[in-house]
Amino acid sequence: MNEREMAAFLSGYRGRPLRLMEVCGTHTSALHKSGVRSLLPGRITMLSGPGCPVCVTPTSYIDKLAAYALTPGHCVLSFGDMLHVPGSAMSLAGARARGGRVDFFYAPEQALAQAAREPGTQFILAAVGFETTAPVWAAVAAQARARGLTNVRLLTALKTMPVAMDALCASAGIDGFLCPGHVAVVTGSEAFRPLAEKWGKPMVVGGFTPTLLLRALCRLVAQAARGQGGVWNEYPAFVRPQGNEKAQALCAEYFEAGTAGWRGLGPLPGSGLYLREAFAALDAGSRGLADDHAPAGCRCGDVLTGALPSRECPLFGKACTPGRPVGACMVSPEGACRIVYLETGGDR
Ligand code: SF4
Repeated sequence: MNEREMAAFLSGYRGRPLRLMEVCGTHTSALHKSGVRSLLPGRITMLSGPGCPVCVTPTSYIDKLAAYALTPGHCVLSFGDMLHVPGSAMSLAGARARGGRVDFFYAPEQALAQAAREPGTQFILAAVGFETTAPVWAAVAAQARARGLTNVRLLTALKTMPVAMDALCASAGIDGFLCPGHVAVVTGSEAFRPLAEKWGKPMVVGGFTPTLLLRALCRLVAQAARGQGGVWNEYPAFVRPQGNEKAQALCAEYFEAGTAGWRGLGPLPGSGLYLREAFAALDAGSRGLADDHAPAGCRCGDVLTGALPSRECPLFGKACTPGRPVGACMVSPEGACRIVYLETGGDR
């Protein structure tokens, strides 16, 4: 089908009502920006999932970063999108306002260069992400060791998607998943097969351009309407069935699986990646960080599990806006609440 035919297929869908989840925050953003979401008829509901790494970062992780920032002789290095994510007492912006040291970087290489220039400062790197960025952090750990940098440690909040999707399959009425394309580049599309077979749901790996979004959604809608489980790779230019084995090997060398706290989903065994014992000197205390101080009234947990559209959070557009975010989903450019707010002008 060409683009016009795919758009007509989706907008003309008259089958049973479907609840489909785009897992990845980049897909949430792309669906809005491309206008593809607005093509969908009322009987196809797209739910935003927990695939924005900033949005699922637990409060105690932010608390720990803030505490490091406020400790003399320490500097937290982070990507800028973490600055306003709320902790239980303050965000990193709040820690900065209290005199804490938080610097930003655009590439991990910059962070290592800064650590090399300031040997008297302890640098804590906010290593946040999913399978897509985990190999980058493994490479950072390898580089820090190779350069003999003893003033660099990683506070990791690295998570893996299939475990979270398994939890969603168990609890939410979701008919199928638009699987995260960037994650699948590393994991491979076959990483989703055990889930698809366990739950009998369609899982379609998709890309991010309007054409690729249309293609993936046409496949997903067609399979979900038939109630047919399985895995389909509609992003074959970048995703191979077995993924990037080199990146997987690097991750396996440096990280092992453990329980991770997800904002909104709680602790999920086996969903986190932590530095192995052999690299404990590089770890800034990443294990056991729970999500135990959700901001009062914030419904991020319901938004991230597809149980509540962003607009139905009582705080949306009132107490919670991109300028004054209450929850993490209003902070990140890939957060569902922020995207909906910016795309709709904040109308509820
Ligand atoms: Fe949380 Fe704000 Fe979204 Fe409500 S609108 S769920 S408070 S981020």
